[in-house]
Amino acid sequence: MPVSNITIIAPLYNEAEVFAELKQRLDAVIASSSQNVQVLLIDDGSTDNTAMLMEEAITGNENYSCIFLSKNFGHGMALTAGLAELSNNTDAVFIIDGDLQDPPELLPQFINKMNEGYDVVYGIRNNRKESFLKKAAYKLYYRLQEKISGSPMPLDAGDFSLISKRVVKQMNRMPEQSRYVRGLRSWVGFKQTGIVYSREERHGGRSKYSLWQLIKLGFNGIFNFSELPIRFIGIVGLLSVLLSLVYLGVVVYDKLVHGTVPKGFTALIFAIVLFSGVQLLSLGLIGEYVLRIFFQVKQRPLFIIKSKITKGKPADEE
Ligand code: UDP
Ligand code: MG
Repeated sequence: MPVSNITIIAPLYNEAEVFAELKQRLDAVIASSSQNVQVLLIDDGSTDNTAMLMEEAITGNENYSCIFLSKNFGHGMALTAGLAELSNNTDAVFIIDGDLQDPPELLPQFINKMNEGYDVVYGIRNNRKESFLKKAAYKLYYRLQEKISGSPMPLDAGDFSLISKRVVKQMNRMPEQSRYVRGLRSWVGFKQTGIVYSREERHGGRSKYSLWQLIKLGFNGIFNFSELPIRFIGIVGLLSVLLSLVYLGVVVYDKLVHGTVPKGFTALIFAIVLFSGVQLLSLGLIGEYVLRIFFQVKQRPLFIIKSKITKGKPADEE
């Protein structure tokens, strides 16, 4: 059945500079689309006047809905909050970045692909307009992530995607506190495919991801989806035990046959430093998993909605 009702969701965190342009381009997409397109904007606790601009522009406009989160929950959670609003008459959800790096005008292409029988159509970036260093880091990371995590994740694919209702439903069932949305999406399965597109530069303002947040996102991509690192520790441990046993054998043999006592203070120090390093690293790796357990067992709600505007009509949350 061809897709006919689409909800576009876009998270916004301090995007006042971009908002007018975003609204304008979304309006154009709604007007030119042969499908019924709704937009859901998520204010992720902006501290500038993004929320005010949203309220102003959206009140009375039936094509738009908004949810305002009670504070900044982060990109992944904001998307999660948006996906959780999935309404029964939506056939597919189109995720875009609020800063217009993912051109909303590509919607028809995504729809065509979905109509060929795919449940997930994601954007693959062909050129990143970022600094050389950042590009190289991204490339390396995506490849490493794919190698380490058991379930293959598409290379250079972000959250920009058109997702069918049944896949969104499955994503909404996932209780993970740590939301690596593209990973969850890929884990669900069904038929998924990519479309190559060129990622625009940010329309205005600055990236809301600090280096530290990017690193955290990167860690999530690896530790949320793979048991390999923790297995690897076991293997390293086993190998070092075997190695030391072999060494012990050599030393005892030397003593008994040649009567020599082992020399080599340097070797000793080297071994101590090397293996205490291995131990600390291992503890750190285990810590990554323990941390995730720690956050998960608390069972906190994933996000808190402060208020909503549904199809242009304000409705306060309890
Ligand atoms: N964003 C958000 N909450 C955050 C950080 C970012 O909702 O805590 C939104 C942001 O407004 C933008 C999108 O997520 O619409 C992507 O963020 P950003 O452009 O800063 O990331 P980048 O494109 O640099 O990876
Ligand atoms: Mg961006």
